[in-house]
Amino acid sequence: MTVTDKDITKFYNSKAWRMLRQQKLLINPLCQTCQMENKIEAARQVHHACNLRRAWESRYDIKLLFSLCGACHAQIETEIYVERQAAERQKQDEELRRLGG
Ligand SMILES: [Zn+2]
Repeated sequence: MTVTDKDITKFYNSKAWRMLRQQKLLINPLCQTCQMENKIEAARQVHHACNLRRAWESRYDIKLLFSLCGACHAQIETEIYVERQAAERQKQDEELRRLGG
């Protein structure tokens, strides 16, 4: 199936997700990225380790979730955004090249 933005919004607004998120924060109350660097930071966000669109079937799999502090979450979101922008630019370049023939 094709996962739309609407599906994703609906998922993040669902009670099931809120409960899963809460459960994850109980298991890992500290930011897991900071922990890897021996830093202790309270987790504020729960992030899907893989792209939700690609791993839609596993969206309720707690093993794919990461507890993150605000700073680490922002960092990851920025990286994803930059990657997406780069992919978009590449697509446009290819399109231009194709049209230019
Ligand atoms: Zn962190």
